[in-house]
Amino acid sequence: MKNLSISCGSGDILSPDRIRLSQLIKSRYAQPPACYIHTYGCAQNVSDSEKIMHVLSDCGYVFTDKPENADLIVLNTCAVRENAHDRVFGNLGGFKKLKQKNNDLIICVCGCMTQQKQVVDIMEKSYGFVDVVFGTYGAKQLPDMLYEVMKNGKRVVRSFDEGDLISEEMKQLRSDTVRASVPIMYGCNNFCSYCIVPYVRGRERSREVSAVCDEVRELVGNGCKEITLLGQNVNSYSYGFVKLLERINDIEGDFRVRFLSSHPKDAGRELIDAILSLDKVCKHLHLPVQSGNDEILKKMNRHYTVGEYLKIVDYAREKDPSFSFTTDIIVGFPGESYEQFCDTKKLLHRVRFDNIFSYVYSKRSGTKAAQLEDNVSDKEKGMLLRELLEEQRDITEKWLGRFVGKTLTVLPTEKGRTGEGYISGKSDENIIVEFKGGERLINSFVRVKIIKAMNWALLGEIEDK
Ligand code: SF4
Repeated sequence: MKNLSISCGSGDILSPDRIRLSQLIKSRYAQPPACYIHTYGCAQNVSDSEKIMHVLSDCGYVFTDKPENADLIVLNTCAVRENAHDRVFGNLGGFKKLKQKNNDLIICVCGCMTQQKQVVDIMEKSYGFVDVVFGTYGAKQLPDMLYEVMKNGKRVVRSFDEGDLISEEMKQLRSDTVRASVPIMYGCNNFCSYCIVPYVRGRERSREVSAVCDEVRELVGNGCKEITLLGQNVNSYSYGFVKLLERINDIEGDFRVRFLSSHPKDAGRELIDAILSLDKVCKHLHLPVQSGNDEILKKMNRHYTVGEYLKIVDYAREKDPSFSFTTDIIVGFPGESYEQFCDTKKLLHRVRFDNIFSYVYSKRSGTKAAQLEDNVSDKEKGMLLRELLEEQRDITEKWLGRFVGKTLTVLPTEKGRTGEGYISGKSDENIIVEFKGGERLINSFVRVKIIKAMNWALLGEIEDK
């Protein structure tokens, strides 16, 4: 049978399932129905939500930031930390009340949480008012699922499919056109002992270089100034991550490139050389260390030692003494002693990160670490976290001082916190810079001379030409 297809506003061809749903929507609603979408968790989830929004927009939905005005509520969930998990169940309680007032409201829960069988079981048993449940792979099938709910009043649950294929036709509806994320790969092969990601996002799959470059070219052509390449471990990108950076660097236009995240076992000298030599690549590396103690790193299944981590740092600092690093740290890992925690504090001083993202260990069932005795109490974890952050605050304030007197390139994106007339954005080095300037400068690159370092940002003034 010949495929039925029509063109949507973007010039893309609509698939039959999207056409079928959009026709049903037109017959049901006098006005385009509104969707409220709430995203929990990481940049990858934000990117997935943008794909869901693109699919829904093709089918005729518009978007609202008020759940009480919505005809469709989508919760795109995160399974990485327990508090995100609890918040989803908390929010669902509120949405149940909306459904009691409006029986036509459709509620959909998707993402990493619903890729787990035990969560789907809970949804099926105790959350009967949720109409659609799918995991991390189901966005493409959303029009089919919504059709089933609307037309036949059926509840649809579709999780656990292996998502080993990449759907290049899944576009994103981006709310921020100046800063955009571009996934380059999906899934993870690393199985860090505390992490649920490999279980809910499957094994690594890389997008083709040409597909990534085409997307970047299109974004830049539409005025995008900052591209963030996304992957759980971009350094294991199948076609060579440095080669990809070189290809993107060759794309014409006034833009810069960031990437998230790197795994220290796969990041080496070649990556540092690329960061320093490619003019569009931001001069910063986010390199999650997680712990400053080798025994804990082994228990975390991270496959590097503190010494190996420091080799990368030292190489970068040899080439550029002010090279910017940020990192992720977990405190209170099962069995971690205070002495082992102090090794992490020592590492902060040794590396001098510009910023750290620190978390208390959160047990995730299904992971290897969940089998270890979680012997650090919540109270102790909270104290360790505060101690670590205090230590880092001092380091940040002193270490940011290296930029005073220098001129940095900043992309201001919002009003500043410093006072009237200040605007704020990040430098190539990923540091927040505030300076006085008209709002007309927002979303364009500005050369800013740094006059002061604070413990959270730099203060500067527009460079005299
Ligand atoms: S590299 Fe480790 S922490 Fe990162 S997503 Fe993969 S398993 Fe999780």
